[in-house]
Amino acid sequence: MNRSRVPVRPSDVTRDGAWSRELDVAVSVVKDATVLARDIHGQIRGEAFLKPDQSPVTIADFAVQAVVADRLAREFPADTLVAEEDATSLRARDGEPIVASILTWIRRFVPDADADRALAAIDRGAGSPGDRFWTLDPIDGTEGFIRDGQYVIALALVVRGQVEVGVLGCPRLSLTSGDEGSADAEARHAGSIAFAMRGHGSFAAPLVATGECSPLRVSAVREPHVARVLRSRAGHHIDLAAFNEVIRELGVKVAPILMDSQAKHTVLAAGHADLLLRIPARSDYRDKIWDHAAGALILEEAGGRVTDLRGDPLDFRAGRTLVRNQGVIASNGHVHDAVVDAIRRLGIVDG
Ligand code: AMP
Ligand code: MG
Repeated sequence: MNRSRVPVRPSDVTRDGAWSRELDVAVSVVKDATVLARDIHGQIRGEAFLKPDQSPVTIADFAVQAVVADRLAREFPADTLVAEEDATSLRARDGEPIVASILTWIRRFVPDADADRALAAIDRGAGSPGDRFWTLDPIDGTEGFIRDGQYVIALALVVRGQVEVGVLGCPRLSLTSGDEGSADAEARHAGSIAFAMRGHGSFAAPLVATGECSPLRVSAVREPHVARVLRSRAGHHIDLAAFNEVIRELGVKVAPILMDSQAKHTVLAAGHADLLLRIPARSDYRDKIWDHAAGALILEEAGGRVTDLRGDPLDFRAGRTLVRNQGVIASNGHVHDAVVDAIRRLGIVDG
């Protein structure tokens, strides 16, 4: 495997390309955000609030969105940001102590931040997808964050519907040292950062800049029945019965690997698993674009494939959600068609 010494600019590793500045800024800010999230996690562990939709959110979600949005606003002031969180609950009277806590964390990276600037940065995430925009999940896998599982910081640049740059900061996933990147990497804590530029490959480096930057490559597994399959750990939003039917139809005998967040895409891109299957519990549920954009490019640039349950490409132009796509199949590419066929045969996809 070709390894390059770091520190280098990520765009040196991708050998330049049209989006070099965007890539370098994105990797730099995701790296800051990943260290920030890891440190916040070390202090607050499972402490969370509930959003109006009853999903959990933590100080880390807000702090990361503030740091990333503030940096993007300075570097690319004309760009739109489409991100998961908003500051509505923080602007309420009882939000004050939470804002104070966010400020103490983000001043490491935005030293002169005050409440107005932090809240304005968070609210920059309310943009709508247009010709060119960034999409951010400040903490993808908040449930993983809360239960000491996997979670990632996911940032992507989308231009005319194509993901051009993708970065995943994975505070609890190690991929680059020895055999540590095995599929049960759930238990390992060293941290890594994966990034890709369209047409220029996918790479990963350890979170701490003393290691090496390595190209990511999917596995060579071709037989679906021996595929190592990944799925969400959270059982409540996926259709487990349908998932198990597909697994049975493919002849897979080995138990799936359960993992939160787009850490799953990084594991696939690194060749430590072969298939990720996401069948939402409700057939009318549409995933958010920030749940897939960065991971999809990193996997595709590592040689893999990402589609919806019908085998159609994900349409990142349609809105804040993937309105035109039901569920997701992400794979090493080799087993992909067999999975699309199995899902069609079983009649799992709508219409
Ligand atoms: P995972 O870590 O793979 O379990 O995926 C976490 C993501 O699932 C979150 O970022 C949510 O956007 C998404 N999600 C939340 N509610 C639902 C739902 N009802 N159906 C499908 N996905 C959901
Ligand atoms: Mg999130």
